[in-house]
Amino acid sequence: MVNEIVGGMGIQVIKKNIKNMHLSVLPPNGIVRVSVPLSVDDDAIRLFIVSKIGWIKKQKERFKNQARQSERRFIDGESVYVWGNRYRLVIKHGSKKNRVEIKGDRLYLYVREKSTVKQREAALNKWYRELLKKEITKFVEIWQRRIGIKVDSCRVKNMKTRWGTCNTVDKRIWINLQLAKKPLSCLEYIVLHELTHLLEESHNEVFVAYMDKFMPDWRMRKSILNEYILDYMYENKLDYE
Ligand SMILES: [Zn+2]
Repeated sequence: MVNEIVGGMGIQVIKKNIKNMHLSVLPPNGIVRVSVPLSVDDDAIRLFIVSKIGWIKKQKERFKNQARQSERRFIDGESVYVWGNRYRLVIKHGSKKNRVEIKGDRLYLYVREKSTVKQREAALNKWYRELLKKEITKFVEIWQRRIGIKVDSCRVKNMKTRWGTCNTVDKRIWINLQLAKKPLSCLEYIVLHELTHLLEESHNEVFVAYMDKFMPDWRMRKSILNEYILDYMYENKLDYE
């Protein structure tokens, strides 16, 4: 899907049977997508994007500002994200136990009738945590074997400033709960990044060389991750032709 990086940004390039190149910055994350005719080559695509970079940056900035202003209340109609996909939140009452169910593009959150914003958030976060743990366990198993190290434990924590951390002495890894909202490929990148710290503590050339060897497309995953805003309700569509 995302197969180009121009000016440090991940770009989705979609080849289609169309006549002209078409550029969009998609809400609410500010993902850049370019649809191109089948015959256009990579250099032409890159040139086209570079020529529009000022415009792209302006749109991204707008999304960011709007996202910052919006506040979550966990009510019907709000957008919630799971593995990079957007769902409409539907609050359901009457059930004894809190739970979450996804059907089509709806995410049903079952909570007590007089639940507060905080309680609804906690119920959703509990579900995110379980979802995340399952995937983390899989990735940790795969990558431990591939790179030949072993962690003591891997835990989930809701963090404001980091996607993950690694305590190299205790061999303990912490993964940000918010990653359940991002594409799975981003979670895998963060898990591998933290595991790689057991081979090299700092972000030096040795570390980068390991990452390049283990996961050649890690830069792309990183750029996607940074383009995804954590929480937002803003919706709009902006196009550029
Ligand atoms: Zn690091």
